[in-house]
Amino acid sequence: MQPLYLQNTRLASSMFNIILFGPPGSGKGTQSEKLISAYGLKHLSTGDLLRGEISNKTPLGLEAKTLIDKGLLVPDEVVIGMISSALDANPGAKGFLFDGFPRTRAQAEALDKLLKLKNTEIGVVLALDVSEEELVNRLMNRGLTSGRSDDTNENIIRERIAEYNRKTSPVADYYREFDKVVKIKGEGTVDEIFELLKKEIDKRFDH
Ligand code: ADP
Repeated sequence: MQPLYLQNTRLASSMFNIILFGPPGSGKGTQSEKLISAYGLKHLSTGDLLRGEISNKTPLGLEAKTLIDKGLLVPDEVVIGMISSALDANPGAKGFLFDGFPRTRAQAEALDKLLKLKNTEIGVVLALDVSEEELVNRLMNRGLTSGRSDDTNENIIRERIAEYNRKTSPVADYYREFDKVVKIKGEGTVDEIFELLKKEIDKRFDH
């Protein structure tokens, strides 16, 4: 019989955790839905968690809304706290699909620590690559139907992309140091992009 800590390590290392990375409008939400049903992963989207707080009018939601409506990021400690609780709330998960998180280097470092405490790690960072003009078009179109206040105004959309370039693209550099980043062409049909993502996942994980 192995000591308990080794059994736990073995159990946890069979998890697989993915970061779906990319700028606003790159298709992370759409592809996440398809990936979680194909692989049975738990979807953790900080954008969705924050919108839940906003619709419940919690103090956290009200604070977040003023930043989100300016196209700015909410503070690291807020989203790190939300992710930490979500990880603890899903002890039996087969793996996590992180969408919209981490968005800063500090968030990436915090995530690595949280996963390490659970004897697991990020398996791969799939980075969707889409041109800025295509992003603005998609977000403006989404704004016609999404009801999201941050999708309706071109200035806010451009600010979100600027915030991504300033603070979030360094997250890819961070994971590149560990050789975990794979760039995926994010333009094409939803199914074509899904196939590219699946191919990369299937190369790495036995499921
Ligand atoms: P998008 O569709 O632009 O990728 P999301 O739905 O992921 O956006 O998030 C919407 C907004 O919520 C972001 O513009 C940002 O203000 C806030 N937000 C979401 N995730 C994070 C995060 N990890 N760190 C800081 N702010 C976040």
